[in-house]
Amino acid sequence: MKRYPTEYLQRAIMDARPWTPTALILRMSNLIPEIQPAFMDLVAVINDVPNPAEYLYKAIHEIWDTLPAYLRFVFRLAENLAPDFFVNAILRFVVNKLLVPYFLVVDEESYRKTKARYAKEGSNVILDIVGEEAHFPENAETYMQSYKYVIKTFGGKMAVKPSSLIPASEFEKNTYEQNKELLKEKFAELFTAAKESGTPITIDAEEYFKWRKLTEEAFFETVLDERFRTMKNEVGIALQTYRKDAFQSALKILEVARERKNPIRVRVVKGAYWGAEHEIAEKLGVPFPLFETQQETDDMFDLVITLLLKYRKHILVSPATHNAKHLAFAINESRGKYADFEFEVLTGMGESIRRALCTIGVPVSVYCPLIRKGGTPKEGMAYLIRRLDEVAKSSHVLKNV
Ligand SMILES: Cc1cc2nc3c(=O)[nH]c(=O)nc-3n(C[C@H](O)[C@H](O)[C@H](O)COP(=O)(O)OP(=O)(O)OC[C@H]3O[C@@H](n4cnc5c(N)ncnc54)[C@H](O)[C@@H]3O)c2cc1C
Repeated sequence: MKRYPTEYLQRAIMDARPWTPTALILRMSNLIPEIQPAFMDLVAVINDVPNPAEYLYKAIHEIWDTLPAYLRFVFRLAENLAPDFFVNAILRFVVNKLLVPYFLVVDEESYRKTKARYAKEGSNVILDIVGEEAHFPENAETYMQSYKYVIKTFGGKMAVKPSSLIPASEFEKNTYEQNKELLKEKFAELFTAAKESGTPITIDAEEYFKWRKLTEEAFFETVLDERFRTMKNEVGIALQTYRKDAFQSALKILEVARERKNPIRVRVVKGAYWGAEHEIAEKLGVPFPLFETQQETDDMFDLVITLLLKYRKHILVSPATHNAKHLAFAINESRGKYADFEFEVLTGMGESIRRALCTIGVPVSVYCPLIRKGGTPKEGMAYLIRRLDEVAKSSHVLKNV
């Protein structure tokens, strides 16, 4: 079997970088990190404030002394010479017309184009309805209707967030058991629709304290239910390896897959809520359930991949990372058998990885957050900011997209 060292993949990923205008803007923005926080603040409110230019200049003046002379010159020039309506039009264009469609799928029409483009190069799409947690029953119902519409109409694969299924207003009032029963009912509703259309569904992993135990228990009990036992790789769950107890969860998933006698898809991720979990643990005064160093998270990632790849009869492993070190590790561990193995990357973030992997014949699916039917780009802003933040701060090889 051909072995793929990290450096080889790193080079392949760099060579496969996209050269679209948006990718170039992102690369350039990495060269001027001083203004990234101000720009990110602006993105959050761009469609709410009447004069984004004024908002941006105000934020820039707060960090004026930290800016290099050439940036001060550019901003002074823009502020004094360019009319606000012109700067506003450019800022809104960059955010709404370039960045939003780069990281998100904005409507049904773009979905079809995106799916066709990826299919041409041998990749599938995984759709996620973008948005924040459901606050009230009507929000959860809108999510459920959108999921069912997508499952029935779109084809491809789906990702579902538990926080979109139980409204926060109800969650707080219910006991743990009531929430579990409710979540199981929602999973059953979705799995029934998925079974009818043959759409694979993966349950996303969310915050540890609120969702970890509830999601896993509800998922295990639902996939063991007689109605869904025969579903093979159409049911899946994400597993975060920044959790100290990630290995125990991997073993439990394996046990459940064996018991149901049909495989489960596992998306292995590192975890996206580290900062928030830290704050919660401090507030609650409880031990921190996540690793404190990236190295420990990375080691657990490789350990879980090694374990799950050993049991491919029971598990379809999907490493989801933008880090070349883990890509090389997982490819080598898979020993060239790619039939029941696939990577997952985020649209926009993982474009160059997807291309690099496609060239060596490794399957990749692309996770695409979709703005629901009738929704607005505003619903995708929090997601967009998380991605921009990752591009700006992350230590991984794709720092410059
Ligand atoms: C297709 C796809 C689906 C995803 N789905 C989910 C999901 O369902 N749930 C979810 O939570 N995340 C999800 N993520 C996000 C994922 O968890 C990571 O946050 C993101 O991919 C960055 O990790 P990396 O390996 O790509 O980058 P890297 O830069 O190699 O790793 C960054 C990650 O390392 C970890 N880390 C950093 N510093 C520390 C520290 N001090 N201590 C411990 N750990 C640390 C964090 O998890 C951080 O996100 C998904 C990612 C992809 C690509």
